Order: sequence, then C-alpha cells, then structure tokens
Amino acid sequence: MDIKALFDITYGLYVVSTRYGEIINGQIANTVFQVTAEPINVAVSINKQNYTHELIEKSGRFGVSILAQDTPMELIGLFGFNCGRNVNKFAKVKYKNAAGGTPVLTEYCIDYLECDLRQKFDVGTHTIFVGELLDADVLKKDKPLTYAYYHEVKKGTAPKTAPTYRGINAEISEVKEEQQTASKYRCPICGYIYDPEVGDVNHNIMPGTRFEDLPSDWCCPICTAAKSLFIKV
Ligand code: FE
Repeated sequence: MDIKALFDITYGLYVVSTRYGEIINGQIANTVFQVTAEPINVAVSINKQNYTHELIEKSGRFGVSILAQDTPMELIGLFGFNCGRNVNKFAKVKYKNAAGGTPVLTEYCIDYLECDLRQKFDVGTHTIFVGELLDADVLKKDKPLTYAYYHEVKKGTAPKTAPTYRGINAEISEVKEEQQTASKYRCPICGYIYDPEVGDVNHNIMPGTRFEDLPSDWCCPICTAAKSLFIKV
C-alpha cells in the first residue's frame, strides 16, 4: 500500500465559522463538499478538539467562506493556527453576518455559504457535519484557493488537527527533497519552513535572502511566531 495516493485527492481551503449567541469563531478547513443537490446539503469535517467543533454542536449552524487564491498567509495563520478560545479571530478581519447570523468573511472570500445542521457523523478524531443550505452568495469573480496551491506556491503547512495532516516530518522531508544545499529554518509553532531560495512573498523578502539576513522583526508568515524561535532544519 502506498498512502501517497491520498496526496492526489484535491481540496480547497475555507474558513468554516459559526455563531453561538454572542460568540463567533471560525477555523481553516480543507474538507468542505456539497453532498446533495435537492435539497442542497454541504458537509464539513471538523476536528473534535477544535473550538469551532464545540460551537457548531451548540449552535446547529455553520458558515463556509471560500477563500480567494490571493488570500494572505496571515489570514490563513490567524484562522488556522490560533485557537478561538484565546483569540477573537473575527476582530481582525472584515466580515458580515449571513442571513442566519453566521459570520462570513467579506475580504479574501469569493463566495460564502451558510447551512443549518441536519446530520453529524462521528468519524473518530473528527465529526462530519452535514448542513442544508440556508444562505449563499457570490462576492467576487476570482480563483478559489486550492490546497495544492497553498502547499506548492504559498509553502503552507497543515496543523496537527487537519483531517489530511501528514506529519511534520513528511512535510519537512518533502522540502528537503526539493533542495539540499540552502539552510532552511522551521517555525516550531506551525511547521512553516523558511526557504532562502524562495524568500517570503508575504513579507516582500526576495528569493536568495538568507535566514540570517532577515530583519529582526521578521516573523512567521503563517502564525506570526518570532524569528528567534525558528529552528534550523
Ligand atoms: Fe509559524
């Protein structure tokens, strides 16, 4: 068996959100898919440890913001590598409430969906929530961000709670395979690898910039961890 076969399944990148009373929260998810057409039902797979999981169970409603290809890594880091129990993520972005009150992004979001929870399936570490479409809108014509683009072009990583997490060692060895010579540094928080051959487009760092030459206030483009925390790989 070669589990690398799974790596060729295609995904997008989304913010799955919910509102429970005055509490609003959301997280990055890559497993969002329409499962039926009449009525329209949409499924999302959410890790049981995540705050969004707890809130969807309480609220019975969830939103999906479909991210644009030009979504900055800071936004992905904000929603993907922080916990809503500690950070009010929506305080840092532009959003509005969909028809049923669920917050959805209005920046770097090309379309949004809002669903009423109809069924849930326990799949071990995750729950698959299935909801019937309550509201949806197209905000702008743009390319959606795919999971492949996030990995290959933006050099993004997956948190341990992602349904498709491959293990940090797999992600590191993949980067190592690409280039053996340059000194790369890894973020200990989110696993992002700074590759001097690539630079950091998110912070206008040109390709060819050594890690040592990055400004002292440079931080992880995904989770904003300080430069001083980075570990040589
Ligand atoms: Fe990081």
